[in-house]
Order: sequence, then C-alpha cells, then structure tokens
Amino acid sequence: MWHTARKAYKHLPVPMQRALVKIYGRLIRAERIRPESRELERFLEESERWEPGRMREYQEERLRAIVRHAYETVPHYRETMDRLGLKPGDIRRIDDLQKLPVLHKRDVRALGKRLRSKAVPRSALWSAATSATSGSPLPVYRDRPVSLMNHACYMRLRRWAGFPFGVPYVTIQGRLIVSDRQKHPPFWRRNPAWNQLLMSTVHLSDENIPLYLREMRDFGARAMEAFPSCAFIIARYLESRDEHFPLEALTTTGEPLLPTERDIIEERFQTRAFDAYSTAERVAFSSECEEHNGHHLYAEFGITEIVDEEGRRQAPGSPGLIVGTSLHNMGAPLLRYACGDVGAMADRSCPCGRTLPMMEGLASRVGDVIVTPDGRMLPPIMVSWSIKAVSNVIQWQLVQRTPDEVRLSLVKDGPLTDKERAGILEYFARRLGADVRVHIEQVDQIPASATGKVRHVVSSVPLVWGSPNRWSGRDEHEGDD
Ligand SMILES: [Zn+2]
Repeated sequence: MWHTARKAYKHLPVPMQRALVKIYGRLIRAERIRPESRELERFLEESERWEPGRMREYQEERLRAIVRHAYETVPHYRETMDRLGLKPGDIRRIDDLQKLPVLHKRDVRALGKRLRSKAVPRSALWSAATSATSGSPLPVYRDRPVSLMNHACYMRLRRWAGFPFGVPYVTIQGRLIVSDRQKHPPFWRRNPAWNQLLMSTVHLSDENIPLYLREMRDFGARAMEAFPSCAFIIARYLESRDEHFPLEALTTTGEPLLPTERDIIEERFQTRAFDAYSTAERVAFSSECEEHNGHHLYAEFGITEIVDEEGRRQAPGSPGLIVGTSLHNMGAPLLRYACGDVGAMADRSCPCGRTLPMMEGLASRVGDVIVTPDGRMLPPIMVSWSIKAVSNVIQWQLVQRTPDEVRLSLVKDGPLTDKERAGILEYFARRLGADVRVHIEQVDQIPASATGKVRHVVSSVPLVWGSPNRWSGRDEHEGDD
C-alpha cells in the first residue's frame, strides 16, 4: 500500500500530503520505537566499547548464521557456493569471506528475486528501491530485523551527535517532500510523531532560503540532519548576511562532507557536524564520533571490507571498493556487496576510547574520484583544496572525461581574479601532474541531480586499484607526495 501511496504522493493536494506524512510518521514510530528497539540501542551503547576480539566473535557468529541461511534458502547463494564447491562450514571466519566473489550492483539488477530468501514471505520485506541516479531502481529488499538494527545505528549516531529522540529537528536529506514542480511554499511538512520538520532539498534558492529559515525558527528547530550540500547552501546564505542559526546538533550524510564546506556549516550553525555513511542496501554504517577523526565502522551492523575489483583486500590507507556483508537481513542477505563507493581503512585507534574499527571519512562514489594519468586516485576532498584560496565560492564542479584533461566550473560572487586562477592551476599541476590540461570557467549555475545533490566531481575515467598513493583527506597543501 505504501508503495502506491508514495508514488501518488507528489500528485496529491497539500492538505492530503500533510495528513499522509503524519500518519506515515506515526506508523514508522510505532514500528521502530518499541522495547526491542531500545534494547538494540542499549546493546550498541555497550558493544562500542567491547574488546576487538569480542566484536570479531560476535560478527563471526552472525556471519556463520547468515551464510548458512543464505545457502539453505537463497537461490543465488546456493548456486554460487555449489559452483565453487563451498559449504556453509567453509565460511566461518571473516577472512573466509574472501572465498566468495564480490557482488556488484549490475549482479543485483540481473539476479532480482533470486537474491531473496525463500524462507521469508515477500510481505515481510520492504522494497528499498535506491535512488535511480544511474538508471532503473535497484531491486533490494530489507526485512524487519535489519530495519530495526539500522534504526538503532541511526540512534547511535544521534546519541554521539547529541540529539536524543524528542529534540525538534530539521531533515533536508533527499526524500521527496513536495513535488519538484511546486513553485510556492510550503516546501516542507511537519512530522509530529518524530518532532521533525521535513524540508525539500530541491527548492533551496536564494529566494526561498529566508522562508526555510523562518519555518525552522517557528518550528523551534534545535538540530539538523542534512546532505552536506544542502546545509552548505543555507550556511552560505547565513554567511552572506552575517547571520547565524545556532543548533545543538548537526549530522550530515549522503555525500562527502568537504572540509571547506564543513568550516562554513559549523561556523554558521555554531555546532560541530557529525558525518555519517550508510547504504540504502543496508550493508554498512559508519560515522564520526566527537573526535571527528575519520569514521567508526558500526561493526555490529555489517562486515566492511576494502577490496579491488577481484575482491582482494587492500592495505589500510589504500583506496578500494567498499564492500559490505549484511549481518541482519535474513530476508535478502547480501554477502560482499560492492555498493559503488570507494574508501580506505584507517589503521588507528580513536582517542574517544571506542573500539570500533576506523575508516577514513572520505567515502565517495566510484564516479566521484579523479584518476591521474599515472593511476593515482584523488577523492573529492583532495580536489576541494584546489579552491580553498578562492573567495566567495557558491558552488563548484570538476568534470573529468579523459585522464589528461579536467574542467572546473565555478559559481562565485564577483569575478575570478588572475591570482585565484593561477592558484588553482598551480594546485592541479602539483596534484594531477603537469601534463593534465585544466580548464576553468565561471558559470551562473551548476545543475543538481534529482535528489538535490550537486556532485562536486564527475569522472568517467575507470579506477585503477593497488596504485601506490594513500587515500588521504588531510590538507597536503605543502605537498608531500
Ligand atoms: Zn572515536
């Protein structure tokens, strides 16, 4: 029923949309805020300080259960393991996972319901059709246990960020709130069951932002969860008026949070941003803690590996595909699923004392990574340093079609000075190599994707794994390649 309701939603009159959001919010609340959810939240509070050995035991116990279940009830896994001569007993430890091939998005698309467990009725599964940025939606499914666990992970993020349930908060994060064809406010809906103000990501314009801010004030917003680009657009507006909107907590997800944007966001909302990473396919979850020292992997949720195209593990610090193995989704388990993002493990412990493993907080879409002619990879964060010295940048985008050429588009207040231009060229010469041609153009606007995100980097150059460079977002202005 909700599938139909969601489809019809954008065509409904505003009062009906309002009523639907209210009912939906109440249903989701009844579904997730119940004793077993609280129990999971308490479990995650304790497990984040477990000895690493205990966490491994927990993961491997769940892994054995899910592999056995997959072998016994999921046609694709039965077939794959039979073909490879594997029995469930062959996959007992995390390292044993490497015996299984990596599952790519294209495989999921081709396999469809062969990835669903025959032991779980279709009615017990939610379709998680992921945003169709690259073609048709992906047929992935979630069951109730993984939804509850994901919610508990999300509440852990909020606990770390300092906004417990009940605090009035704003969400500007991609869900369709009002039709993109709508030209007049309200561009938001209230969800009283969650004390949440849901705001559209695609109506953020200079003309509308004052209306957003007024609604946020009326609502009494004390926290925000947002795409980095949305939080940045509002923060930049506040900056241009020399205003602030003090919040108690702020979380970002959905895109890399670039340091240049983080500074302005944190300054204008007067709070630290807690960046998080999660996948619609529910195989991985990670976030910053109060140390903002990369991401802690939420190891209870899934097993995360960083691998090359063939599934070989990469050393900490070296970039690779982020591959997740679901530990809770019995309805449609995904083992070694490459969600299309690139990241790197971090070989360090965190001063916060939590024992959860660390990942560099630079997870980027595969197509958002620049590749140099000699095969080095630069995440968007590295690229963002190129415009650090350029004043009043509103938006930017770097497009790479071939290894030896990039095109930088900039939206900024006032003209680009010769000095700024020279600074950009000098940075790219150092980072990409002197042979790469760099075109810079100032433009009026950079189109956003359907979900309201503006991709900072768009590259169609294939990635090369195992290259010698480190995947690092530290400010390496004084370059030490
Ligand atoms: Zn920490």
